[in-house]
Amino acid sequence: MAEQADVVIAGARCAGSAAAATFARAGRRVIAVDPVRFPATTVSTHLLFAGGVAELARVGALERVEKIGAPRLSRAFIGGPGHAATGTYTPVDGIAHGLCVRRAPLDAALAETAREAGAEIREGHRVIDLLWEDGRAAGVRVRDRTREYEIRARLVVGADGRRSTVARLAGAEHPRIAHANGRACYYAYYDDPRQEWRGTAAMWLTGRELGNAFPCDGGLSLVLLMPPVERAADFRGDLEAEFDRTVGLVPGLAERLTGCTRTSRIVSSATHPSFFRRSAGPGWVLAGDAGHFKDPVTAQGIRDAVRFGRLLGERAAGVLDDPAALDRATRAWERTRDAQCVHTYHWTNLLGRGDGLAHVQFELLRALTDPPGGVRRVLDVYSRIRDPRETLALPGLVRATARALLRGGGSRADIVRATGETLRELAGHRAEARGLLRP
Ligand SMILES: Cc1cc2nc3c(=O)[nH]c(=O)nc-3n(C[C@H](O)[C@H](O)[C@H](O)COP(=O)(O)OP(=O)(O)OC[C@H]3O[C@@H](n4cnc5c(N)ncnc54)[C@H](O)[C@@H]3O)c2cc1C
Repeated sequence: MAEQADVVIAGARCAGSAAAATFARAGRRVIAVDPVRFPATTVSTHLLFAGGVAELARVGALERVEKIGAPRLSRAFIGGPGHAATGTYTPVDGIAHGLCVRRAPLDAALAETAREAGAEIREGHRVIDLLWEDGRAAGVRVRDRTREYEIRARLVVGADGRRSTVARLAGAEHPRIAHANGRACYYAYYDDPRQEWRGTAAMWLTGRELGNAFPCDGGLSLVLLMPPVERAADFRGDLEAEFDRTVGLVPGLAERLTGCTRTSRIVSSATHPSFFRRSAGPGWVLAGDAGHFKDPVTAQGIRDAVRFGRLLGERAAGVLDDPAALDRATRAWERTRDAQCVHTYHWTNLLGRGDGLAHVQFELLRALTDPPGGVRRVLDVYSRIRDPRETLALPGLVRATARALLRGGGSRADIVRATGETLRELAGHRAEARGLLRP
């Protein structure tokens, strides 16, 4: 006999736990399965801007997450050659700080929040197939260490990450739109005695190199390097030596790390394309990275996974017993997600370019963050309370390109080529967004 639930969820990290908590609070029987056992890490850095921290609060997880002990990051620093700007946040729901909590404790706190709300979280269990009935997803087949079994449900949620099994089984694996990453990611944790930096998330752009230092839990700081993607080849040899050499290419970061010691192995991600997938169909839905992934460069993934996991629960819990109304609700949810994410996706893809455009990005950031209050206005974009398109207005881009050419840090031909491509891309964004949002 198959088990019965109202909602079955594949994956119990950011999107899965947020959805599970919300459906359970609405009185629905929820089972979420995940092959890992929490606390378990995953390949992901974990900066949250104030808007992301507010999402943890909205899903009821913030108190638990704050107990993990990460410092409140109430300041942000943006630096590079001859430029240093610090600013604070516009509060979002009264929250005026970012947080950087390692994924193992963060995800365990999210799963615990879902459990406390009444959801059942099964660790060490993996969805291996979908059950179908009259063209609708009607449940899942699950495998654990000892057996295979079925759970029938009104709604199947794939919250199983970028390589989603549910997306593949629902025939939605091929993205509607996709974009290759322009930067690779290498990160490690440092013992960090620099108390004066403890409340500051910092980023430096130097030439085409991008380096970050984010104080996190455990008295550590997360150091994230995002070199241009073609430099991934340099990291394939002696990873540690190339990591340290790259820190040296970003003098502001190297100075920041004075007195700090690397205490972890280096984690790499060289290929992580961004995409939107079709994310709602009869009886199934894709939440979090399973349905939409953005380049890590703007650190929006956890925020969006938690937010749209919660919104899915809020929109669908009341209509689970009416299949037609449920399918309308999940399609409407998908459109809301796309409308709220597509401009951030385009902005992220531009910031994620590690080619000649990096020089223009720096000039743009300098122009945006030099005036008093400038950092705050940029943080408003990262917190999702300001439209990113405002930072990419044509006159600003043209001025930034002219300044990049005058400063002469990179190849002029590369800068001109990259700006030309960007202008063409910007022109295409509107059509791409329209296509995505078309019902
Ligand atoms: C290098 C890198 C750096 C990043 N840095 C940041 C950052 O600084 N800030 C930020 O906000 N975001 C960042 N992100 C994005 C962030 O990691 C994701 O957006 C976020 O983890 C999405 O959460 P999720 O719950 O959708 O998926 P995941 O966190 O990927 O969780 C999916 C879960 O599904 C489970 N699963 C897989 N298959 C199955 C199956 N068949 N059955 C059941 N369960 C299954 C997995 O075990 C996993 O636990 C980064 C991503 C990368 C790659």
